[in-house]
Amino acid sequence: MAKKFTVSFEFFPPKTEEGMQKLRDARAQLAAFNPEFFSVTFGAGGSTRDRTMDTVLEIQQEGFSAAPHISCISSSKQEIRDLLQAYQSHGINRLVALRGDVPSGEVSAGDFRYASELVRFIRQETGNHFNIEVAAYPEFHPEARTPAADLQNLKRKMEVGANAAITQYFYNADAYFRFVEQCDALGIAMPIVPGIMPIYNITQLARFSSVCGADIPRWLKMRLEEYGDDMASLRAFGVDVVSELCETLLAWGVPSLHFYTLNQAGTISRIINNISE
Ligand code: FAD
Repeated sequence: MAKKFTVSFEFFPPKTEEGMQKLRDARAQLAAFNPEFFSVTFGAGGSTRDRTMDTVLEIQQEGFSAAPHISCISSSKQEIRDLLQAYQSHGINRLVALRGDVPSGEVSAGDFRYASELVRFIRQETGNHFNIEVAAYPEFHPEARTPAADLQNLKRKMEVGANAAITQYFYNADAYFRFVEQCDALGIAMPIVPGIMPIYNITQLARFSSVCGADIPRWLKMRLEEYGDDMASLRAFGVDVVSELCETLLAWGVPSLHFYTLNQAGTISRIINNISE
């Protein structure tokens, strides 16, 4: 890469052998960008526990740094302790620690309410073994009482042991810049790595965004809708938009980008090639 920045890539654990094979292919393609790590999501309540573990161990066996996500909602301390011990015994030393969202209709008591409680527990149980990444929200978490309370939550996660944060995706670079400035002012000294979501499909993006509170700017939504079923043109436009976003972030000085891959490599490879020129 001509420009100096690091990348990391997020996957979800596939349900089928065919999905695993597709992910291997995607990983092989993305490995060309020398990622700092590959992370693997975790279904809240432990629904993907084994698949997350299997995927992480496969990545590790290929010689890459692998970071499992752990979400704590609906989990007991013992379940999390067992998971931490399993990862430790396999030599995994990086985690993305989250609260998670309870799947609708599923009500079960757990020992944790917030991600900060999980981070504190991980440090109590395993000391400094793990590098811990947490989530941050430049456009604020949908359940945040106020923006200030959400910033305080991020600060709390740092104070109990988080090393860095990865943001929810956004398409408005100013929201990220203002957020990082507010974090600096509050003494949140850890890196806040932008999470980058490529544009594959407007319906899917609108669905994700309505759940996680990420804003799709009006101009972008209207431009994407204009493409209708012409997916090739929509994706080409999406590559331009996201490449420009990344360029803006890099010009501002961000040292790393974390890509939400949805287990696909082609679009992201085009974006990284664009911004590396
Ligand atoms: P928290 O940091 O606990 O915050 C949740 C909400 O509670 C916020 O509104 C916060 O302001 C509020 N809050 C926190 N503490 C308090 C308090 N003491 N009093 C009152 N309010 C409080 N989900 C998954 O299930 N699996 C994954 O693998 C996964 N990976 C993700 C990766 C990234 C990079 C990101 C950004 C999100 C990911 N998520 C994942 C989604 C995440 O679990 C949800 O956004 C979830 O709703 C919040 O998780 P959190 O860790 O940010 O929670």
